[in-house]
Parts: sequence; C-alpha cells; structure tokens
Amino acid sequence: MDLLEKIVSLSKRRGFIFPSSDIYGGLGATYDYGPLGVELKRNVKERWWREMVYRHENIEGLDAAILMHPTVWKASGHVEAFHDPMIDDKASKRRYRADDLIERRIEKMEASGKEEQARALRTRFVAALHSDDMPKELHRIILDEEIRGPDSGAFDWTEVRQFNLMFETHAGAVVDDETKIYLRPETAQGIFVNFRLAQETARQQLPFGIAQIGKAFRNEIVARRFIFRMREFEQMEMQYFVCPGTQMEHFEAWRAKRMQWHIDNGIRPEHLRWHEHEKLAHYADAAFDVQYAFPMGWQEIEGIHSRTDFDLKRHQEFSGKKMEYFDPHRKEKYIPYVVETSAGLDRTILMLLCEAYEEERVEGEERIVMKFHPEVAPVKAAVFPLVKRDGMPETAQALAADLRGHFNAFYDDSGSIGKRYRRMDEAGTPFCITVDGETMETGAVTVRDRDSMIQERIPKNNAADYLKDRMQGWSRSAER
Ligand code: ATP
Repeated sequence: MDLLEKIVSLSKRRGFIFPSSDIYGGLGATYDYGPLGVELKRNVKERWWREMVYRHENIEGLDAAILMHPTVWKASGHVEAFHDPMIDDKASKRRYRADDLIERRIEKMEASGKEEQARALRTRFVAALHSDDMPKELHRIILDEEIRGPDSGAFDWTEVRQFNLMFETHAGAVVDDETKIYLRPETAQGIFVNFRLAQETARQQLPFGIAQIGKAFRNEIVARRFIFRMREFEQMEMQYFVCPGTQMEHFEAWRAKRMQWHIDNGIRPEHLRWHEHEKLAHYADAAFDVQYAFPMGWQEIEGIHSRTDFDLKRHQEFSGKKMEYFDPHRKEKYIPYVVETSAGLDRTILMLLCEAYEEERVEGEERIVMKFHPEVAPVKAAVFPLVKRDGMPETAQALAADLRGHFNAFYDDSGSIGKRYRRMDEAGTPFCITVDGETMETGAVTVRDRDSMIQERIPKNNAADYLKDRMQGWSRSAER
C-alpha cells in the first residue's frame, strides 16, 4: 500500500473522512468529514481566520451565498473560459488533463537527467498553452512525444477537447435558459461583487482585504486522489485591494506570509516549494503556487495571484455600477488592483494527514501515529482511568470535564491502556492522561506524550495549564 492508500484507509477506519453516501457505494469525488475530520477541519479554518482576519486590522471577513446572479460568471469569464483541456485514452476509457500528461513527462525527463530535452519540451509546451488553438497543439505534443495512457500503457488517444467545469442548476420552477444559474466554482467572485459594500460599511481604506471561507463546486472530469480533487470542496480566499502600481510589493509580502502559515501548522519546510505559473491567466500579472510534496508528487495547495483590476473592471462594465475607490491621500479615484491568496481547505487537510502519518516499531509491534501539530489535532487530550474501580473512573471523568472547558478532551475506559494509547495515536491526540492508584492518594496523574511516548507525573489540578504550555512549545522531532 502506498502512503495515500494508507491514509484513505485510516481516514475511514478512524473517522476522519468517509466517501459521501457510502451505503450507496459512494459518489465520485465527494467526501464527508467524520467526527475526527470535522475537528481537524474546524481547527484549520480557525487558524486561517485568526491569522488573516484577526491579526490584520485591515482585513474583514465575509460569508457570501453559493448561488449568485448568473451575470457574475459572464463578467468573470467563467462561462466562456473555465475549461480544462481533456483527452481520452480509448483503451482504458479514462480521461486525463492533456496539460497534466505533458507536465508529468517533463518532470520525468528532469528526474532522469535529460535536462536539455526537458527544457525543449517545456518551451514547446508553454508555446502551446499560449497558442490560439491550444487543444490541437497539446494533442500534437502528446502524439510527438508518444505519451502513453498512464493506466493502460496504450497509445490510442482521442482529440483534446475543452470541458466547462461549472455545475448548472435552475432557480425556481421553470427550467429554461432564463432561470439557469451556477454553483459558484470559486469564492472570490462573492468578494469582488461585495467590494464596495464591505469597504464602505467597514470604513476601510486601501490597502485592505476581504477574507472568506466557503464551498466551491467544480465538475472535475478527472477526479481521483481522494480529497485532492473534489467536485464539492472548500476554499479559504482573501482578496487584498491595493493602489495600482503597488501590487508587486504586496504580492511578495503575501507570498512570504502564506508560506510561513503552512510551516506554522507543522509542515516541514522541505516539503513545501514555490511553483511559478507557466502561463498567466488573462487577468494576472504574477502567479505562484505553494506546492506540497504529496505521495503522488509535488502538487498545488494554494495560489497567490496578482489579478490587476480585471475583476472589478469587468463587474463595473457588466453591472453598470462604479467599482472605483476614492483615495483620500492621492486625492483621486481609481479601480483598485487585487492580490489574492487562494487556498484549498481540503487539500490543506490532505497535506496535514500526509505530513502527520508515521509508522514505527515499538517493542516489536507496529505503531501508527498521526503527529499533527497539537493546535490542529482533533482531540488535544484523552483521559483514562487505569481500572474501572476504586473511584478512578469518576476522577478521570471529572478531569476530562474540566479540560473540556479549555479544549477538546476525550474520556475512554475501554480496553487495556496499551490499546487506548494506540487508538489515540491514530487519532493524533498529543497527550494521554492516566488516573491511577497514586492519583487517588496524591492527586498526581501521568501524562504520556504522543511523539516521544515518555510519561511524566504532574498534579492533576495543573493539567490544563501544563498541556497548554506543552502545546505551544511543540516542535516536530522525528524525521520522516
Ligand atoms: P488545479 O490546477 O489543481 O485544478 P486550480 O489552479 O484550478 O487548481 P484555483 O482555481 O487557483 O485552483 O483554486 C485555488 C485552490 O483551490 C487550489 O490551490 C486548491 O487548493 C483548491 N482547489 C481547486 N480545485 C479543487 C478541487 N477540485 N478539489 C479540491 N480543492 C481544489
């Protein structure tokens, strides 16, 4: 089993993530977060919100609706151009993104030392992405390079075709073109259309940002790799409105801050890197992705884009409403430029699961342990009575109740202590506290550290403060 398969299996076994509608055999590319997964997700959202909205005086929050006026998607360019170039392998009947197949070939060349060939192919690839007939040019490359179907090994391709990724539905009872609306494919447009209202009501001056966490929907054609590519997913986006001409300094500042945020969540710096876009979207003047070393290779988790005034200008044009800002310092009106940070919440979760997963041998037995940063761990502390008598369960219950006033704590009295530790290791709980005979006499409990498995005795009345200190001082010790 590779790492991703192990994580899929652990996620279902322990209650992190389940296939959606599992009793009906699941629904492609949609997943549900179980009891542990939902805690992990809430912690990540909370950390993002705290970092973006609370730590920046000039960033406001927003929660826009998923359904928006259909003209929004005309103005944004999504109706016309939110496509992926897809190609079908006739042998396996599987569909792939044509640009992905070529990128993978280039990476393979680079990995095997064929640097000159890789460079030449990349040049041709970039030219194809910019050409007027992009599908045809990508198709030519796939044929010329004799790229084979990754699953079948066959060389039997269809043409490259463009597929629109937006989900359509209808508002109200009548189903016709007039009532057609879309499930939003990104949260950003909710921010752009509310720019004036948010700025005026919050009485903000530029530079200022609007942050939002919410669902987005894309009818992804190739939807595999667990929660990496879903049809329903969540984004954490922030649009930062700036004076034209200053966008690059803000862009660089946000790049640094966003990378640091992932590191602060416990991701090893060597598992993160920057990837510069080969082809800038028509609206962008700079774009970098944060990539993570997933088991299936380096992949994007967050994009930092400098989007110029494209979106606001288009909404001004399509709505007829002014999107200008009066700059009191420069004493002039202009449409602000935008730097955005756009992270996938589910991809961040998958990254945290991959980063945390470790297998160790302890006294001849295998131990699976999720070494999450304690701040994102679903449960912070578990409390066990050593045995189910002599007042130990009551004392342990009372301690768990006390800890729940500070953070998520869990009480468990079933099975041997060893088994209880193993369950908590798989859940990624950083501390297990045991109430034993000595606790009943002296009030001291043992605290067992998830990572080092070292046990310490501390006064039970001190437990909450002690654990908070330990969580704050956490750093990753073992190497993967
Ligand atoms: P990709 O190239 O992987 O399809 P993208 O460049 O289209 O992603 P953006 O439109 O920049 O992605 O969206 C911002 C973030 O939203 C991405 O970095 C990713 O984390 C997340 N995201 C996008 N599509 C999906 C999806 N189908 N499932 C899960 N997360 C997604």
